[in-house]
Amino acid sequence: MEYSIAIQPQVKREVKDTSSIPFGQQPTEHMFIAEYKDGQWQNSRIVPFANLTLSPFALCLHYGQTVFEGMKAFLMNDGRVNIFRPDKHYERFALSLERMCIPVVPKGLFTEALHQLIQLDSAWVPNHPHGSLYIRPFVFASESKLGVKAADEYIFMIVCTPAYQYYTKPLKVKVEEKFVRAADGGTGATKCGGNYGGALYPTKLAREAGYDQVLWTDSKTHELIEESGTMNGMFVVNDTLLTPPLSGTILDGITRDSMLAIANDMGIKTDVRPIRYKEIIEALENGKKVEAFGAGTAAVIAPIEIIAVNGKEYKCYLGEDALMYKLQKVLLNIRKGGAVDKHNWNYII
Ligand SMILES: *Cc1c(COP(=O)(O)O)cnc(C)c1O
Repeated sequence: MEYSIAIQPQVKREVKDTSSIPFGQQPTEHMFIAEYKDGQWQNSRIVPFANLTLSPFALCLHYGQTVFEGMKAFLMNDGRVNIFRPDKHYERFALSLERMCIPVVPKGLFTEALHQLIQLDSAWVPNHPHGSLYIRPFVFASESKLGVKAADEYIFMIVCTPAYQYYTKPLKVKVEEKFVRAADGGTGATKCGGNYGGALYPTKLAREAGYDQVLWTDSKTHELIEESGTMNGMFVVNDTLLTPPLSGTILDGITRDSMLAIANDMGIKTDVRPIRYKEIIEALENGKKVEAFGAGTAAVIAPIEIIAVNGKEYKCYLGEDALMYKLQKVLLNIRKGGAVDKHNWNYII
C-alpha cells in the first residue's frame, strides 16, 4: 500500500433502507480526512462521520478556495461494488485544484482513500435499480488568516451519501440571455465552489418564472448553448447526438464523455460543435423530433421537456423510444456489470 491510512471504524450499525431519504441528507458511517501542512499531505485517516471545527479566520470562508468532485459507486449484479471512472474524476479534480492554487492531492492518496472508504461503507451502496452511492471528495483552505492569499494549509475530505432518482419529472428550462455561469479565462471548467454560488441567483429568478433551471449561453453573444444548470447540455436532432465542445467555460463532464463513447459504440452519429440555441428552436418550430437533456453524475440524464425563450415555450420529445433513454440504459448496464465494460470504466473494489 503506497499510502497508509489510519482507520478508526465505529461499530457497524445495520444499514436501513435509505430509498425514501431525499438526496444529500444521509451521510454514511465514515469519512476520509487528510491535512495539508508544512508542504505535504499528511495525517490521512478514516473516522466516523462528524462535524468539523474550523477557525472563523479559515481562508475558505472568505476567499472561496474550495474544490469538489462528484462521483458514484454501484452495486453490481454479482454483488461486487465498483466506482465509476475514478481516474477521469481524479484528472478533473487535479485540474480544478491547480486552477484554484491548491496543492494537488496525489493520485495514489486519492485512489487509496476512495478504495478504503467505499470498502468500509460498502453496505451503504444501495441495492436498488436506481440506487448508487454518491461520493463527494472536496478540498478547502483551512489556514487561519484574514489576508487574501493562497493558503498554506488545506483539508481534503471524502464523504458519501446514498442516491436514488435525482429528478422525478422532466425539466423545464429557460434560455438565459442575461446572466452567465462562466466566461472565457474564468473558472467554468473547474468544480470550484464559487461557480455554484454565482449560479444560484439566476436559477432563483428562473424558478420564480416557473422553470426548473437555466440553459446557459455564452458570455459574449448569448447565442451559443453552454450547459443546462449544473449539467452538460446534450441534444438529439436528426438521429445525431449533439453537444457543445469543451472550452474554458464548459465542464468536462464524465457522463457527457461516457454518453458520447456509448453512442459511438452503438454506431450512433455524434457531433461535438458549437450549438446556437436558435437552431434547436428552429428544429422544434419545424416540427422536428428534438431530444434535450442534461447529463451529470447525480442525475445521470435529466430529460428536458420544455425549453423557453423569452416566455415562449417549446416542447421536446420525451417518447419511450427516445435515444437518451437507450444511452442511459446502456450506461447503467455497464455499471451494473450486465454489459461488457470495454472501456474499463469500472474500478472494482
Ligand atoms: C459536475 C458538473 C457536470 C457534470 O459532470 P459529471 O462528471 O458528468 O458529473 C456538468 N456541469 C457542471 C457545471 C458540473 O459542475
